[in-house]
Amino acid sequence: MSNPRLLILGPPGAGKGTQSANLAEEYGIEHITTGDALRANKDMDISEMDTEYDTPRAYMEAGDLVPDAVVNAIVDEALSQADGFVLDGYPRNLEQAEELSGMTALDVILSLEVDREELVDRLTGRRICDDCGANYHVEFSPPETEGVCDDCGGELIQREDDNEESVRNRLDVFQDNTAPVIDHYEDHDGFVTIDGEGTPDEVWAAISDAVDARVE
Ligand code: ADP
Ligand code: ADP
Ligand code: ZN
Repeated sequence: MSNPRLLILGPPGAGKGTQSANLAEEYGIEHITTGDALRANKDMDISEMDTEYDTPRAYMEAGDLVPDAVVNAIVDEALSQADGFVLDGYPRNLEQAEELSGMTALDVILSLEVDREELVDRLTGRRICDDCGANYHVEFSPPETEGVCDDCGGELIQREDDNEESVRNRLDVFQDNTAPVIDHYEDHDGFVTIDGEGTPDEVWAAISDAVDARVE
C-alpha cells in the first residue's frame, strides 16, 4: 500500500502531538497540524474572510475555534502536497469533517481517550521547544536540562493558551464541537479507540499495533 493516511483525534492534551511525531517518524509520513500552522501565522490578515476578528490570535488565546474558512484552506493546501500524512487538530467540528471528506480518504482514524482532570494537568504543565516544536511536560516528560530542548538545545516555552482558564474553555469547546466529530467517524472501517492514559511509550505501543494491523 502507498503511504498511510492517518487521522488522530482526541481532546486538547490527549497526546496527539506527541504521538503524531512518532507516527511521522515510523511511517515516513508528514505531520500536518493546524495548531502549529496557525501559531506560525497568528497575525495573518483574515479580514477578507468576513470574520469577527482580523487575525487568528484573538481566537487562539481565548481557546476558541479559528473560523472554518481559514483552517480548511490550510489543510487543503497541506494535503495536496503530502504523500501519506498524520492529520492532527483537524477536523474540530462537523463542518470541517464534511470539508475533509471532499479532500481525501483516510486509512486509519485513531481516537485517543483521556480523563478531563488529567488533561488539565497535562496542558498546564506542557512546554514546547521554541525552535523545533518538540513537546515536553514539567513532570511527566521533563527534558534532561530544565528549560532546554533535548533534541536541538532550543529554549522551552509555555504556550500562551496553556493557562488554566483557556485550557478549561478549550475542553468545553472540544465537548461541544469536536466530540460529535468522533461519533461521526465511529462507523468508518479504520476507526479505533486508544486508551491514552498510559505512559507515552505504552500509548505508542497501542497506536503502532493498531496502525500496523490496518495498513499492511
Ligand atoms: P491542543 O494542543 O490544545 O489540542 P492545538 O495546537 O491543536 O491545541 O490548537 C490550538 C488552537 O488553534 C485552538 O485552540 C484553536 O484556537 C486553533 N485551532 C487549531 N486547529 C483548529 C481547527 N481545526 N479549527 C479551528 N481552530 C483550530
Ligand atoms: P495534544 O497535541 O493532544 O494537545 P500533546 O501531545 O501536546 O497533546 O501532550 C500534552 C502534554 O502532555 C505535553 O506536555 C506532553 O508532554 C504530555 N503527554 C503526552 N502524552 C502523555 C502521556 N501518555 N502521559 C503523560 N503526559 C503526556
Ligand atoms: Zn527543539
